[in-house]
Amino acid sequence: MSAAGPAPPDPRALSLNTATVKVRWDLARMIDGCARHGIRGISPWRDKLAELGVGEAARRIRAAGLTVTGLCRGGMFPAADEAGRRAAIDDNRRAIDDAAELGAQCLVLVVGGMPAGSKDLAGARAQVRDGIAAVLPHARAAGVPLAIEPLHPMYAADRACVNTLGQALELCDALDPGGAGVHARTAADGGAWAPAAALGVALDVYHVWWDPALDAQVARAGAARLHAFHVCDWLVPTRDLLEDRGMMGDGVIDLRRLRGLVEAAGYRGLHECEIFSSRDWWQRDPDEVLATMKARHASHC
Ligand code: ZN
Repeated sequence: MSAAGPAPPDPRALSLNTATVKVRWDLARMIDGCARHGIRGISPWRDKLAELGVGEAARRIRAAGLTVTGLCRGGMFPAADEAGRRAAIDDNRRAIDDAAELGAQCLVLVVGGMPAGSKDLAGARAQVRDGIAAVLPHARAAGVPLAIEPLHPMYAADRACVNTLGQALELCDALDPGGAGVHARTAADGGAWAPAAALGVALDVYHVWWDPALDAQVARAGAARLHAFHVCDWLVPTRDLLEDRGMMGDGVIDLRRLRGLVEAAGYRGLHECEIFSSRDWWQRDPDEVLATMKARHASHC
């Protein structure tokens, strides 16, 4: 990469994570909105998918020509008892089936934190490892790559006890040694980019930007394990642990440098904009949000 950093992104690389406009739009409106704004990718959450029905959603997304950059989300493996853990595994298998029907490039895994009342962080992490191991064969058979999303450590208790890229890659190497290719869908995609390994990572700048080991771990992940790239920004101050993410350019993350980093590692997928913002962006007209996303993607990503 030159001293000036990477060139501006291809505008066609922008994808909409439906969380960004989830308060005011249903999935059908989101699909129409992407078409209207020239956004070429979408990543639905399962609540929005359930409203429309996965078959109808898949039909509309295909008709709009959108790439499904991921399905959000599977995971949430730890539970207080065996029945709870089994229920989580069953739910993940259903999510894999939905992702397959959508032709999603991956199923994003927010792995889960500690069961209520527990202080056993190591135990929760072991349950996550076992849960992913239990669903990986189904994912391979369905041709759906799994993408572990490491979450910022502030979520370790209740959302995800996998908190750094390095930790996520340790799981990948343990459960999917060598990162063998997963699916036969690459040919059907017409040779377009698609995740390679059965188990990889969803790299969300919001969760990993602070990590001093980030550059080395992105290089370690390489093209095979980088399944998705999520963008937004880190606001100073952050007023809510979950719902105060910033629009690209409004915070402190050097997004263009991070894009250069994943591209240098071989990533060729889309840039998925995912903004949880109860006070600001969720209150606005979603057409304004999508227009701003496009402009900020061009100027800051
Ligand atoms: Zn994300």
